[in-house]
Amino acid sequence: MPAQKLMEQFNLRSHLRFNIEEGNIWLDENRMLLLHASALGALRKELIQSLGIQRAKALLLRMGFESGQRDAELARKLTGSGEPYDVFQIGPQLHAFEGLVKATITEAEIDWERGSFLGAVDWQGSWEAESHIQAFGVGDEAACWTLAGYASGYVTRFFNRFVVFREEQCLCCGDDKCSIVGKPAEEWEDQEYVKLFKPDNIDREIRELQDEVSSLRETLCHQRGRGDLVGESQAFRNAFNLLERAADSPINVLLLGETGVGKEVFAHWLHKHSSRAENPFVAVNCSAIPHDLIESELFG
Ligand SMILES: [Zn+2]
Repeated sequence: MPAQKLMEQFNLRSHLRFNIEEGNIWLDENRMLLLHASALGALRKELIQSLGIQRAKALLLRMGFESGQRDAELARKLTGSGEPYDVFQIGPQLHAFEGLVKATITEAEIDWERGSFLGAVDWQGSWEAESHIQAFGVGDEAACWTLAGYASGYVTRFFNRFVVFREEQCLCCGDDKCSIVGKPAEEWEDQEYVKLFKPDNIDREIRELQDEVSSLRETLCHQRGRGDLVGESQAFRNAFNLLERAADSPINVLLLGETGVGKEVFAHWLHKHSSRAENPFVAVNCSAIPHDLIESELFG
Protein backbone atom coordinates (compact mmCIF):
# COMPACT_ATOMS: atom_id res chain seq x y z
CA MET A 1 0.00 0.00 0.00
CA PRO A 2 1.41 3.48 -0.83
CA ALA A 3 2.75 5.46 2.09
CA GLN A 4 0.23 8.27 1.76
CA LYS A 5 -2.65 5.81 1.89
CA LEU A 6 -1.17 4.26 5.03
CA MET A 7 -0.96 7.65 6.68
CA GLU A 8 -4.61 8.25 5.90
CA GLN A 9 -5.62 4.79 7.00
CA PHE A 10 -3.91 5.00 10.36
CA ASN A 11 -4.54 8.70 10.68
CA LEU A 12 -1.48 9.53 12.74
CA ARG A 13 -2.47 13.17 13.08
CA SER A 14 -5.60 12.25 15.02
CA HIS A 15 -3.42 10.59 17.68
CA LEU A 16 -1.41 13.75 18.32
CA ARG A 17 -2.76 15.88 21.18
CA PHE A 18 -1.45 19.19 22.45
CA ASN A 19 -2.43 19.65 26.06
CA ILE A 20 -1.03 23.14 26.39
CA GLU A 21 -2.77 23.89 29.72
CA GLU A 22 -0.84 21.03 31.31
CA GLY A 23 2.33 21.54 29.27
CA ASN A 24 2.12 18.11 27.59
CA ILE A 25 2.16 16.79 24.04
CA TRP A 26 0.93 13.24 23.46
CA LEU A 27 1.20 10.86 20.54
CA ASP A 28 -1.38 8.31 21.55
CA GLU A 29 -0.13 7.35 25.05
CA ASN A 30 3.47 8.47 24.53
CA ARG A 31 4.52 11.80 25.92
CA MET A 32 6.42 13.63 23.19
CA LEU A 33 8.64 16.71 23.17
CA LEU A 34 8.68 19.49 20.63
CA LEU A 35 12.18 20.78 21.05
CA HIS A 36 14.66 22.77 19.03
CA ALA A 37 16.72 20.61 16.69
CA SER A 38 19.57 23.03 17.37
CA ALA A 39 19.36 22.31 21.12
CA LEU A 40 19.54 18.56 20.53
CA GLY A 41 22.35 19.28 18.04
CA ALA A 42 24.26 21.21 20.73
CA LEU A 43 23.89 18.29 23.16
CA ARG A 44 25.04 15.91 20.44
CA LYS A 45 28.08 18.08 19.71
CA GLU A 46 29.03 18.24 23.36
CA LEU A 47 28.67 14.48 23.75
CA ILE A 48 31.04 13.93 20.83
CA GLN A 49 33.55 16.45 22.13
CA SER A 50 33.51 15.25 25.72
CA LEU A 51 33.16 11.47 25.27
CA GLY A 52 34.83 10.97 21.89
CA ILE A 53 33.21 9.68 18.70
CA GLN A 54 32.81 6.02 19.70
CA ARG A 55 31.09 6.58 23.03
CA ALA A 56 28.90 9.38 21.71
CA LYS A 57 27.94 7.24 18.73
CA ALA A 58 26.97 4.35 21.01
CA LEU A 59 24.84 6.61 23.23
CA LEU A 60 23.07 8.17 20.26
CA LEU A 61 22.46 4.80 18.60
CA ARG A 62 20.86 3.55 21.83
CA MET A 63 18.79 6.71 22.23
CA GLY A 64 17.42 6.18 18.70
CA PHE A 65 16.91 2.47 19.41
CA GLU A 66 14.71 3.28 22.41
CA SER A 67 12.65 5.68 20.36
CA GLY A 68 12.24 3.15 17.53
CA GLN A 69 11.02 0.53 19.98
CA ARG A 70 8.37 2.86 21.38
CA ASP A 71 7.17 3.63 17.86
CA ALA A 72 7.01 -0.06 16.93
CA GLU A 73 4.70 -0.61 19.89
CA LEU A 74 2.61 2.32 18.79
CA ALA A 75 2.46 1.06 15.19
CA ARG A 76 1.25 -2.34 16.33
CA LYS A 77 -1.38 -0.77 18.53
CA LEU A 78 -2.64 1.60 15.84
CA THR A 79 -2.87 -1.00 13.15
CA GLY A 80 -4.26 -3.92 15.09
CA SER A 81 -4.34 -6.93 12.84
CA GLY A 82 -3.34 -5.20 9.58
CA GLU A 83 -1.07 -6.83 7.04
CA PRO A 84 2.36 -7.20 8.71
CA TYR A 85 4.17 -5.50 5.84
CA ASP A 86 1.74 -2.55 5.79
CA VAL A 87 2.08 -2.17 9.54
CA PHE A 88 5.82 -2.44 9.19
CA GLN A 89 5.82 0.52 6.81
CA ILE A 90 4.39 2.78 9.49
CA GLY A 91 7.93 3.04 10.95
CA PRO A 92 9.25 5.35 8.24
CA GLN A 93 5.96 7.29 8.40
CA LEU A 94 6.35 7.84 12.14
CA HIS A 95 9.96 8.87 11.67
CA ALA A 96 8.88 11.49 9.14
CA PHE A 97 5.90 12.50 11.28
CA GLU A 98 8.25 13.26 14.18
CA GLY A 99 10.31 15.51 11.92
CA LEU A 100 13.51 13.46 11.95
CA VAL A 101 13.92 12.27 8.37
CA LYS A 102 12.05 11.24 5.24
CA ALA A 103 12.63 7.51 4.90
CA THR A 104 11.88 5.43 1.82
CA ILE A 105 12.12 1.64 1.97
CA THR A 106 14.14 0.55 -1.08
CA GLU A 107 14.52 -3.11 -0.29
CA ALA A 108 12.66 -5.48 2.00
CA GLU A 109 13.17 -9.21 1.90
CA ILE A 110 11.17 -10.39 4.84
CA ASP A 111 10.13 -13.90 5.69
CA TRP A 112 7.85 -13.53 8.69
CA GLU A 113 7.63 -17.28 9.22
CA ARG A 114 11.32 -18.04 9.10
CA GLY A 115 12.31 -14.76 10.72
CA SER A 116 14.72 -13.72 7.99
CA PHE A 117 15.16 -10.02 7.30
CA LEU A 118 17.09 -7.84 4.89
CA GLY A 119 16.07 -4.22 4.51
CA ALA A 120 17.41 -1.06 2.93
CA VAL A 121 16.17 2.48 3.35
CA ASP A 122 17.07 5.80 1.70
CA TRP A 123 16.92 8.95 3.77
CA GLN A 124 16.28 12.50 2.75
CA GLY A 125 16.44 15.58 4.94
CA SER A 126 18.14 13.88 7.90
CA TRP A 127 18.12 16.33 10.82
CA GLU A 128 21.18 14.59 12.18
CA ALA A 129 23.28 14.94 9.02
CA GLU A 130 22.41 18.65 8.94
CA SER A 131 23.33 19.10 12.57
CA HIS A 132 26.53 17.06 12.31
CA ILE A 133 27.79 18.90 9.23
CA GLN A 134 26.99 22.24 10.83
CA ALA A 135 29.04 21.32 13.88
CA PHE A 136 31.92 19.35 12.37
CA GLY A 137 31.79 19.74 8.56
CA VAL A 138 32.01 16.79 6.19
CA GLY A 139 34.29 14.08 7.61
CA ASP A 140 35.12 10.47 6.86
CA GLU A 141 32.40 8.69 8.84
CA ALA A 142 28.63 8.27 8.52
CA ALA A 143 27.00 10.07 11.44
CA CYS A 144 23.19 9.67 11.43
CA TRP A 145 23.41 7.53 14.55
CA THR A 146 20.10 8.28 16.29
CA LEU A 147 18.35 7.54 13.00
CA ALA A 148 20.13 4.22 12.43
CA GLY A 149 19.38 3.37 16.07
CA TYR A 150 15.72 4.18 15.51
CA ALA A 151 15.43 1.87 12.48
CA SER A 152 17.16 -0.90 14.47
CA GLY A 153 14.91 -0.44 17.50
CA TYR A 154 11.77 -0.32 15.38
CA VAL A 155 12.50 -3.49 13.41
CA THR A 156 13.87 -5.34 16.46
CA ARG A 157 10.68 -4.76 18.45
CA PHE A 158 8.47 -5.34 15.47
CA PHE A 159 10.20 -8.50 14.40
CA ASN A 160 11.06 -9.86 17.85
CA ARG A 161 14.59 -10.41 16.72
CA PHE A 162 17.67 -8.23 17.25
CA VAL A 163 18.02 -6.50 13.88
CA VAL A 164 20.73 -3.89 13.36
CA PHE A 165 20.78 -1.13 10.76
CA ARG A 166 23.99 0.53 9.68
CA GLU A 167 24.41 3.58 7.55
CA GLU A 168 26.23 2.63 4.37
CA GLN A 169 26.15 6.06 2.75
CA CYS A 170 25.91 9.43 4.47
CA LEU A 171 26.02 13.12 3.60
CA CYS A 172 28.35 13.50 6.60
CA CYS A 173 31.13 11.63 4.78
CA GLY A 174 30.58 13.24 1.40
CA ASP A 175 28.08 10.78 -0.17
CA ASP A 176 25.22 12.32 -2.12
CA LYS A 177 22.58 10.75 0.14
CA CYS A 178 22.12 8.87 3.39
CA SER A 179 21.07 5.21 3.22
CA ILE A 180 20.97 2.30 5.62
CA VAL A 181 21.00 -1.47 5.44
CA GLY A 182 19.57 -3.73 8.13
CA LYS A 183 19.88 -7.41 8.96
CA PRO A 184 19.86 -9.65 12.04
CA ALA A 185 22.66 -8.69 14.44
CA GLU A 186 24.55 -11.98 14.18
CA GLU A 187 24.76 -11.68 10.39
CA TRP A 188 26.95 -8.58 10.58
CA GLU A 189 30.63 -9.19 10.06
CA ASP A 190 31.41 -5.99 11.93
CA GLN A 191 30.47 -7.14 15.44
CA GLU A 192 32.20 -4.12 16.99
CA TYR A 193 29.38 -2.02 15.54
CA VAL A 194 26.74 -4.40 16.89
CA LYS A 195 28.29 -4.17 20.37
CA LEU A 196 27.62 -0.42 20.43
CA PHE A 197 23.93 -1.24 20.95
CA LYS A 198 24.66 -2.83 24.32
CA PRO A 199 24.80 -0.35 27.20
CA ASP A 200 28.22 0.11 28.79
CA ASN A 201 28.76 1.29 32.30
CA ILE A 202 30.71 4.47 31.73
CA ASP A 203 30.19 5.64 35.31
CA ARG A 204 31.81 2.49 36.75
CA GLU A 205 34.65 2.75 34.26
CA ILE A 206 35.33 6.37 35.21
CA ARG A 207 35.35 5.49 38.91
CA GLU A 208 37.76 2.61 38.30
CA LEU A 209 40.05 4.89 36.29
CA GLN A 210 39.91 7.52 39.05
CA ASP A 211 40.92 4.90 41.64
CA GLU A 212 43.74 3.77 39.40
CA VAL A 213 44.96 7.34 38.89
CA SER A 214 44.98 8.13 42.61
CA SER A 215 46.76 4.88 43.43
CA LEU A 216 49.38 5.56 40.73
CA ARG A 217 49.73 9.12 41.97
CA GLU A 218 50.27 7.87 45.52
CA THR A 219 52.88 5.35 44.38
CA LEU A 220 54.64 7.96 42.31
CA CYS A 221 54.63 10.42 45.17
CA HIS A 222 55.95 7.79 47.52
CA GLN A 223 58.63 6.72 45.10
CA ARG A 224 59.73 10.28 44.52
CA GLY A 225 60.02 10.74 48.28
CA ARG A 226 62.08 7.59 48.58
CA GLY A 227 64.71 8.69 46.07
CA ASP A 228 67.17 5.85 45.52
CA LEU A 229 65.51 3.63 48.10
CA VAL A 230 63.59 0.92 46.30
CA GLY A 231 61.63 -1.84 47.99
CA GLU A 232 58.11 -3.05 48.66
CA SER A 233 58.58 -5.76 51.32
CA GLN A 234 57.09 -5.30 54.78
CA ALA A 235 60.59 -5.25 56.32
CA PHE A 236 61.66 -2.50 53.93
CA ARG A 237 58.55 -0.45 54.69
CA ASN A 238 59.12 -0.78 58.44
CA ALA A 239 62.73 0.34 58.07
CA PHE A 240 61.71 3.24 55.85
CA ASN A 241 59.05 4.40 58.33
CA LEU A 242 61.66 4.46 61.09
CA LEU A 243 64.02 6.37 58.81
CA GLU A 244 61.37 8.99 58.06
CA ARG A 245 60.72 9.49 61.76
CA ALA A 246 64.45 9.72 62.49
CA ALA A 247 64.93 12.33 59.74
CA ASP A 248 62.62 14.70 61.58
CA SER A 249 64.51 14.49 64.89
CA PRO A 250 68.08 15.28 66.09
CA ILE A 251 68.81 11.75 67.33
CA ASN A 252 71.82 9.59 66.47
CA VAL A 253 71.03 6.71 64.16
CA LEU A 254 72.93 3.44 63.94
CA LEU A 255 72.27 1.46 60.77
CA LEU A 256 73.13 -2.21 61.03
CA GLY A 257 73.06 -4.78 58.28
CA GLU A 258 75.07 -7.12 56.16
CA THR A 259 77.37 -5.84 53.44
CA GLY A 260 75.41 -4.78 50.37
CA VAL A 261 71.98 -4.22 51.96
CA GLY A 262 72.23 -0.48 51.27
CA LYS A 263 73.19 1.07 54.63
CA GLU A 264 74.98 3.92 52.91
CA VAL A 265 72.03 4.62 50.63
CA PHE A 266 69.83 4.80 53.76
CA ALA A 267 72.38 7.12 55.38
CA HIS A 268 72.41 9.42 52.37
CA TRP A 269 68.59 9.55 52.33
CA LEU A 270 68.54 10.35 56.04
CA HIS A 271 71.06 13.18 55.60
CA LYS A 272 69.24 14.61 52.61
CA HIS A 273 65.90 14.68 54.44
CA SER A 274 67.19 15.91 57.81
CA SER A 275 67.64 19.46 59.08
CA ARG A 276 71.40 18.93 58.42
CA ALA A 277 70.91 18.53 54.69
CA GLU A 278 72.69 21.84 54.02
CA ASN A 279 75.88 20.55 55.71
CA PRO A 280 78.29 18.15 54.04
CA PHE A 281 77.78 14.39 54.24
CA VAL A 282 81.09 12.87 55.39
CA ALA A 283 81.60 9.14 54.90
CA VAL A 284 84.36 7.63 57.04
CA ASN A 285 85.66 4.11 56.53
CA CYS A 286 86.26 3.27 60.22
CA SER A 287 87.90 -0.09 59.56
CA ALA A 288 90.59 1.63 57.47
CA ILE A 289 91.67 3.87 60.41
CA PRO A 290 93.85 2.46 63.20
CA HIS A 291 92.04 2.14 66.53
CA ASP A 292 94.20 4.72 68.38
CA LEU A 293 93.73 7.38 65.67
CA ILE A 294 89.95 7.20 65.23
CA GLU A 295 89.19 9.67 68.04
CA SER A 296 91.45 12.43 66.72
CA GLU A 297 90.31 11.72 63.17
CA LEU A 298 86.66 12.23 64.08
CA PHE A 299 86.85 14.94 66.75
CA GLY A 300 90.20 16.63 66.13
ZN1 LIG B 1 23.53 10.28 7.20
